[in-house]
Amino acid sequence: MSDNSSNIEQKVEQKNDFIRNMIREDVKAQKYKQIVTRFPPEPNGYLHLGHVKSICLNFGVAEEFDGICHLRYDDTNPTAEKQDYIDNIKKDVHWLGFEWAGEALHASSYFDQLYTWAVQLIEQGEAYVDMQTPEQIKDNRGSYKEAGTASPQRDASVADNLQLFADMKNGKYAEGKAVLRAKIDMADPNMNMRDPIIYRVMHQEHHQTGDKWCIYPMYDYAHPLSDAIEGITHSLCTLEFEDHRPFYDWIVNKIGFEQPPHQYEFSRLNVDHTLTSKRKLKQLVDEGIVDGWDDPRMPTVAGMRRRGYTPEGLRDFCHRVGVAKADGVVDMRLLEFSIRQSLDDTTARGMAVLKPLKVTITNFSEAVSSWESQKADSVTARWDDTAQTLWLTQPNHPNVDMGEREIPFTETLYIDQGDYEIEPPADYKRLSPEKPEIRLRNTYVLAVSEHVLNDAGNVIELKATIDPATLGNNPEGRKVKGVIHWVSASQGVPATVRLYESLFSVEDPSSVSDVHAALNPNSLTELSAVVEPSLANANAGTRFQFEREGYFIADEIEHSSEKPVFNQIVSLRDSYKPA
Ligand code: ATP
Ligand code: MG
Repeated sequence: MSDNSSNIEQKVEQKNDFIRNMIREDVKAQKYKQIVTRFPPEPNGYLHLGHVKSICLNFGVAEEFDGICHLRYDDTNPTAEKQDYIDNIKKDVHWLGFEWAGEALHASSYFDQLYTWAVQLIEQGEAYVDMQTPEQIKDNRGSYKEAGTASPQRDASVADNLQLFADMKNGKYAEGKAVLRAKIDMADPNMNMRDPIIYRVMHQEHHQTGDKWCIYPMYDYAHPLSDAIEGITHSLCTLEFEDHRPFYDWIVNKIGFEQPPHQYEFSRLNVDHTLTSKRKLKQLVDEGIVDGWDDPRMPTVAGMRRRGYTPEGLRDFCHRVGVAKADGVVDMRLLEFSIRQSLDDTTARGMAVLKPLKVTITNFSEAVSSWESQKADSVTARWDDTAQTLWLTQPNHPNVDMGEREIPFTETLYIDQGDYEIEPPADYKRLSPEKPEIRLRNTYVLAVSEHVLNDAGNVIELKATIDPATLGNNPEGRKVKGVIHWVSASQGVPATVRLYESLFSVEDPSSVSDVHAALNPNSLTELSAVVEPSLANANAGTRFQFEREGYFIADEIEHSSEKPVFNQIVSLRDSYKPA
């Protein structure tokens, strides 16, 4: 971890959530030799912000209590799972800064053992094969008010059940024709205890086990037993599994583990204007609403990485959100706050003009001819006669040592269109016909003498002069208010700059049945910008602060020095302050 991230983490208070407090007690009581947690994604999509919370919790807890955390693919449903998802999950966990113990594990590697235990349950008289149709099974489960109805096969003999289960395994039945159910209580007030299905027939190849199996264990059966196999001490999951805990305890108890794992539930992470559901995110990808799982607008780890979010910022966000029992919605601005804070001390500065307005300096040659004798002592520069360019040396960061760069200053520049207004609002601090003077960042004071309009009445060019005595100095006897950024027109490099708003315009996109209706039409704006050479020449994946504009990253995939592409990470500031 970088120094910056450890700083951030020091700033965050000691973590005192109910899970850590409970583990602290377990450690004190020496209940376990070692704390073992696991992060158990199903490889049916890319990881998203919600998973980041689970990752930070599971891996974080293991780190803090000198334990270990497993990465285990909960791959019990081969239809939706893919190798690409498996690979990207690993990449994402590493990128977030965590390391799992040993190899990545798969629930599918336990299929033999899980099958043996299913046979054991049948032999114990605690599981039976049910050949009712899926509809009958559903109808016979009863309701919250009424007990369910027992299957006609509920009391079949152990021998018959063993035969039927073997037949299931051997491919005798089509999908939906037979299931294995735990025999618990059809009147239990908890519906999950009304003889839950633990195995189903699926004539499907599995990405890990090939065509070995045509029956697959249900998640609720495979998960606790996988935890038990791996010696997981604390199985941390989200609140929707609370009602599944009785079955979790039932199954590990029936199989007879000496020190069974325990499940503890915490609240899911929900963030406004964001979706945290792989299924719905997949729909956005499949329908081409976004440019793939790593579209910078996606709340996936891949998307956030491409957007330029930092692992440090994401971890800081998760610390701030904390771990609790109550569901709630977290303000998106908290995430942006954490990201922004991780960037200030770690990104070089640079100048980029997002909406270029041409400025011609009418006294350029004459003014710069005396640069060496007139400059302030603090200014370092060199004159390039061939290119008619004054190269100004500037540190890359105002107070962190990140080296220096040369910025070209030339006769024609670009400033931002927003920095000149013919009829400015009352509190306007930049250029206008009434206030024609301003400091150009890192160089001279500029005075606009004339604006050029097109037929539509828009300003398309400014003609201006520079004051030769102001290279690093204030003009005699007064201070010029305001500083703007600029880029040389001849030495700057045209660049694509992408600005983002949230992908959804509604606060809770998960509540909208048609995802299309929830989309923000302005989620992406592409601008033809101009950037100073140091920005264009950066490696893909480098983050910057564009002065006065925000934080940006050279796109991981599309950026090159000939065709620079930058994604906006986050704005420079926001009035939002975390509580
Ligand atoms: P999705 O609904 O997006 O498919 P999931 O819960 O089915 O999510 P899994 O791959 O099964 O996804 O989840 C892996 C782990 O991540 C689980 O322990 C799950 O509880 C946790 N997790 C998933 N979403 C969130 C969330 N929004 N907040 C916190 N933890 C989450
Ligand atoms: Mg799931």
